[in-house]
Amino acid sequence: MKDDTIITHSGRHPERHFGVVNTPVFRASTILNATVADLKAPKGLRDPRYGRRGTPTVFTLEDAVAELEGAYGTVVTPSGLAAVTTAMLAFLETGDHVLMVDCVYGPARRFAGTFLKRMGIETTFFDPAIGAGIAELMRPNTKIVYLEAPGSQTFDMQDIPAIAAVVRPRGAKVLIDNTWATPLFFKPYEHGVDVSIHAGTKYIVGHSDAMIGVVTANEESFPALRDSFDTLGACAGPDDVYLATRGLRTMAVRLRQHQANATKMAEWLQTRPEVSRVLYPALPDNPGHAIWKRDFLGASGLFGVVLKPVSDTAVAAMLDGLELYGMGASWGGYESLILPTDARPYRTATTWAPEGPTLRIHAGLEDVGDLIADLEEGFGRLKQAA
Ligand SMILES: *Cc1c(COP(=O)(O)O)cnc(C)c1O
Repeated sequence: MKDDTIITHSGRHPERHFGVVNTPVFRASTILNATVADLKAPKGLRDPRYGRRGTPTVFTLEDAVAELEGAYGTVVTPSGLAAVTTAMLAFLETGDHVLMVDCVYGPARRFAGTFLKRMGIETTFFDPAIGAGIAELMRPNTKIVYLEAPGSQTFDMQDIPAIAAVVRPRGAKVLIDNTWATPLFFKPYEHGVDVSIHAGTKYIVGHSDAMIGVVTANEESFPALRDSFDTLGACAGPDDVYLATRGLRTMAVRLRQHQANATKMAEWLQTRPEVSRVLYPALPDNPGHAIWKRDFLGASGLFGVVLKPVSDTAVAAMLDGLELYGMGASWGGYESLILPTDARPYRTATTWAPEGPTLRIHAGLEDVGDLIADLEEGFGRLKQAA
């Protein structure tokens, strides 16, 4: 079945809930057993036994995402960052080594530099363009190669199959933060990935009103992931899981509009004299375009814009007057957002040298003509203040 069908039907069992279309919000800590024999009977992952271990509300989201992404199993965490840490800790112990892409989400880098370091786990950052060259950085104790494509803020692509072809025969796991592409626009298990991480807070929830994390894994990696999840105990609350599942049902149609709007905005921005370059792999002249086209099925609504050199005051004049763009952390909701970003301090393996100030734009579901007109007026203020 095609994704539009899977996303509509997967994980739902109305016949078990009086015909109710959506799996209800089950609130549970205790789950009762009728007899001592029931209490002692071996239970599978789909037999509710304790709130933290999952209820039908949680199983619905787990099954839906697993089916959509082509994974063997899923765990659901209370945030995207908890998904990152639960996934990494599944495969690491003291003395291990991690390879992490240099354009990784900032808090994931922080986890490596603080917590993992304290545990005696060393992390080496690498150039997103490394490809099969990753072989030179592999050590006998390398357990995880951590990817994020396109990368946070700078939107660098990685040659995932080329990296996986080197890493997996050596017994290390390939993890990817697949938040940007979602399970719809990148199918990690068709490209050599072992574990896929999502800040469901973004497109899966899709309405800026809940935090959730999702990790999926292939069959070989799932037992360790599930064990990490059960050991750490970071389970998501039932209302947030429900909102994530409800968001997921419409993600395919939302993403089509996010992609259409982002593409039009990116193309328009490329024609602007104030703009140096647009960071969006769907654009044909983007350095990551060939890889994106080969491996990805679409582009979501988040992209970067490097301006020509201009003062921060002028950028503030542009942004402060925008009517349709909110300024704040996160993205993936139905509404448009804009932020000044600066990826320079994060890089350690490579140098990020933008020509001018950088903006990160999330193209929401508004009319794209209105979105562009608002930016155009913003450029007027930028010019005046410059
Ligand atoms: C937002 C984000 C996260 C973290 O998700 P939270 O739900 O905010 O904890 C992880 N990875 C990427 C790429 C993100 O954009």
